[in-house]
Amino acid sequence: MATQKMLKFVTVGKQMPEKRDASSRKQDFDEIYREFAAQKAAEQSSRCSQCGVPYCQAHCPLHNNIPDWLRLTAEGRLQEAWEISQATNTFPEICGRICPQDRLCEGNCVIEQSGHGTVTIGAVEKYITDTAWEEGWVKPGTPAIERAESVGIIGAGPGGLAAADRLRRAGVQVTVYDRYDRAGGLLTYGIPGFKLEKPVVMRRIEQLEAAGVQFVLNCTVGEDLTFDAIRGRHDAVLIATGVYKIREIEAPGSGAAGIVRALDYLTVSNKLSFGDEVEEFQNGTLNAEGKRVVVIGGGDTAMDCVRTAIRQGATSVKCLYRRDRANMPGSQREVQNAEEEGVEFVWLSAPKGFSGGTAVEGVMVQKMRLGAPDSSGRQSPEVIEGADYVEPADLVVQALGFEPEDLPKLWGVEELSVTRWGTIKADFRTHATSLPGVYAAGDIVRGASLVVWAIRDGREAADAIMDYLAQSGAVAAE
Ligand SMILES: Cc1cc2nc3c(=O)[nH]c(=O)nc-3n(C[C@H](O)[C@H](O)[C@H](O)COP(=O)(O)OP(=O)(O)OC[C@H]3O[C@@H](n4cnc5c(N)ncnc54)[C@H](O)[C@@H]3O)c2cc1C
Ligand code: SF4
Repeated sequence: MATQKMLKFVTVGKQMPEKRDASSRKQDFDEIYREFAAQKAAEQSSRCSQCGVPYCQAHCPLHNNIPDWLRLTAEGRLQEAWEISQATNTFPEICGRICPQDRLCEGNCVIEQSGHGTVTIGAVEKYITDTAWEEGWVKPGTPAIERAESVGIIGAGPGGLAAADRLRRAGVQVTVYDRYDRAGGLLTYGIPGFKLEKPVVMRRIEQLEAAGVQFVLNCTVGEDLTFDAIRGRHDAVLIATGVYKIREIEAPGSGAAGIVRALDYLTVSNKLSFGDEVEEFQNGTLNAEGKRVVVIGGGDTAMDCVRTAIRQGATSVKCLYRRDRANMPGSQREVQNAEEEGVEFVWLSAPKGFSGGTAVEGVMVQKMRLGAPDSSGRQSPEVIEGADYVEPADLVVQALGFEPEDLPKLWGVEELSVTRWGTIKADFRTHATSLPGVYAAGDIVRGASLVVWAIRDGREAADAIMDYLAQSGAVAAE
């Protein structure tokens, strides 16, 4: 039926183009899209067998009650479906868009396991919550009773924001500090807009503001404000600063112009989608247009870079990874998307250095084979001697992952315990750190992870902070 309507739309558009302006065409398109999405959501939801062994739910980090909201969606009871969905997830429409469902809920769907193709759980979750926004069901979490206690949250990524939402709903005074000019963390400046549209993130931040969460932006803790000052201002503190130290390639020629960091490249591209003017894009430094682009790395960040380069009009985009396809850390779905868009994967290839002078002209590639498994069971790449070659490149993007910054040193708090990987040591249930009243959540505890895990941590940390505030005897304001 949607297809018929779409055909009608195309025909109408062809017959009288001069009578239909761009905005009415968009309205028609939106209407058709909504109808199509509604039909798909109902179709997919009714495929759920209500198997009674919800592996999907068990493999969702938030243990979302997926079978129930699928059943309600299939029955057309969307508001009830949304109420159940948002009870366990602070940002369901965001997870629906960017969770690697093939590794989580959908990968464990019983129908998928029996070879009939998963129920598209993420797409239904997105549809339910997008509808809730359109219908005005999503309201700011303004508390019924204000409390006197205040909590400072360092980091406005999904971990910090999930905690802010939960604490504010409980009436706590919440201030979120972030070094960027916009809140959202990697939702705003890491994940590209073609995967997660920026207005979807911004409307959540506006709702938090409307609920009374205070944001202090352009504020780097450790530089503009000390950590001790934040502790002094608040009854409890949550550290949710993510991981931002870049792993860089140290090889001959690595200082040449045209070799850039993945996050710098993606941040600039994301700023453009807000309409910002960015010099590094305009002067070509972080712009792939008309260039031969090589991205080094095999994770989701690398996939975002290759797909961004395609959209910027690169003449060719290649992704070098030292293992093979089966051993890539990134989502297979993302690899497939990238391939369909024209990205070429060069498996079993590692950079040895860079050719060119002051500006890069190519990546010197060593060919690899997979050898014996290491202690983790993963096959280690080994160099194939005599098979080196040069991959021509005008822009090389390094996407080799992130590590935590040395927060105890940067913030002058040696008593803040960290693990041997530099992540903050926190209780896995309460998220309490070695400092009284200080909690930590998200990537800064787990290392580079996923949005859905940061949300879970933020929610759990907020609950533990509420217990801490109750135990430390602070009193409700009125
Ligand atoms: C390019 C990219 C793509 C990704 N794609 C996906 C995806 O598709 N799906 C998925 O599930 N996950 C994805 N991830 C991972 C996901 O984004 C992270 O796991 C998640 O954002 C972690 O949330 P967080 O709140 O812990 O930290 P972040 O989102 O990193 O937020 C931390 C915030 O703290 C702020 N901050 C840091 N230090 C300070 C300081 N000293 N003072 C003040 N503020 C500070 C930062 O500015 C930032 O805003 C991706 C990651 C990257 C890099
Ligand atoms: S939050 Fe992520 S893992 Fe959980 S149901 Fe939604 S898409 Fe699946």
